[in-house]
Amino acid sequence: MNGSGKIILVTGGAGFIGSHLCARLLERGDDVVCMDNFFTGSMRNVESQLGNPRFQVVRHDVCLPYSMYVDEIFNLACPASPVHYQRDPVATYKTSVFGALHALELADKWGAKVFQASTSEVYGDPHVHPQPESYWGHVNPIGIRSCYDEGKRGAETLFFDYRRTRGARIKVVRIFNTYGPNMNPADGRVISNFIVQALRGEDITIYGDGTQTRSFCYVDDLVRGFIGMMDTPDEVTGPVNLGNPGEFTMLELAEKVIKQTGSASKIVHRPLPQDDPRQRKPDISKASSLLGWEPEVVLDEGLKRTIEFFKGIR
Ligand code: NAD
Ligand code: UDP
Repeated sequence: MNGSGKIILVTGGAGFIGSHLCARLLERGDDVVCMDNFFTGSMRNVESQLGNPRFQVVRHDVCLPYSMYVDEIFNLACPASPVHYQRDPVATYKTSVFGALHALELADKWGAKVFQASTSEVYGDPHVHPQPESYWGHVNPIGIRSCYDEGKRGAETLFFDYRRTRGARIKVVRIFNTYGPNMNPADGRVISNFIVQALRGEDITIYGDGTQTRSFCYVDDLVRGFIGMMDTPDEVTGPVNLGNPGEFTMLELAEKVIKQTGSASKIVHRPLPQDDPRQRKPDISKASSLLGWEPEVVLDEGLKRTIEFFKGIR
C-alpha cells in the first residue's frame, strides 16, 4: 500500500490506547513514529507492526525535549491507571506538563497539528452530571490523584495558551474510562482487574460499596473519535468529551464479568481509595455535532472481546 506521506508521532504509542491508534494510522497509510519510555507500555503491544517499514519505535522520555519532522502529533504519553500514576507522582506530573510542552514546541516548529489526550479526571469528583465540556470541575489540588488530574489540567492550559499566543493547531479531547485488548493485566484499572480476577478464579475486589459509577468506552470507538477529531479544520480545538454515556455501578460491572466468564469468583469489598469520584458519565453532544461521533460497541460486546484477549495471554 502506498503511504499517505504524512508523518505522525504518537507519544505513549506502546501503551494500551496508543498501540490501537498506531495500528489504525498505519492501516490508513500514514508513517508512524511511536515514542515511549515503557513506563507502563510494552513492546508486545506494537510487535505486530515492527516489520512495517512505515513504523518506527523511539525509546524516549517526553519529559526531555526531542526533535524530528512531524505533520501531526498525538500526545498520549502518561500512565493512566491510578495504581501506576501514583507510583511516581512527580514523574506523572512532569510527564503531563513537560510532555505537553515538548509536543507543543515541536508542533510549533513545523506548523503541525497537535492532539492532547486529556481526561474526564479534569472534572474531578463532579457535582454536575453528566459532565459537559463547559463544566470546570471539582478537583482536589493536593490529594493522591492530583498529580494526574492537575497535570492534565495544566497540560490543557498550555495547549490553549499556545493556541492564543502562537496560533497552535491544537485538538484536545477529554477521554472517559476506556477498555479493550492490550490493557496490561497488572494495569490496576477496574475492567482489567475484574476480568483477570474472574479468569483466575480469584476474589473480585470492589472498592467501597460498589455503587460508584463509571461509563466505559470500547477502544475502537475511542480511536475512531481521535482520528475524526484530528481531521477537523483548525478552528475546531476542543475540548471535546469522548466516552460512552452508558453508566454502570462497579457492582453491575462485576456481575457482568462474572456472568460472561462463567467464573466462580466471589465479590469482596476493599476500602475506597481517597478522592475516588462517585459518578462519571460524559455528555457527548459536542462530539456528536462536531465529529458526527457516537460509540457503537455496547459494554456487553466490548467485555466479550476484552475477555477473549485476556484468555489469550494467560
Ligand atoms: P497506558 O498506561 O497503557 O499508556 C501510556 C503510555 O505512555 C505507556 O506506553 C507508557 O509507557 C507511556 N509513557 C508514560 N510516561 C512516559 C514518558 N514520560 N515518556 C514517554 N512515554 C511515557 O495508558 P492508556 O490507557 O493507553 O492512556 C493513554 C493516554 O490516554 C494517557 O495520556 C491517559 O492519560 C489518557 N486517558 C486514558 C484513559 C483510559 O481510560 N484508558 C482515560 C482518560 C485519559
Ligand atoms: N475499582 C474497583 N476495584 C478494582 C479497581 C477499581 O472497585 O479492582 C473501582 C475504583 O475505585 C473506581 C472505579 O472502579 O471507583 C474505576 O476505577 P479505575 O481505576 O478503573 O478508573 P478511575 O477511577 O480512574 O475512573
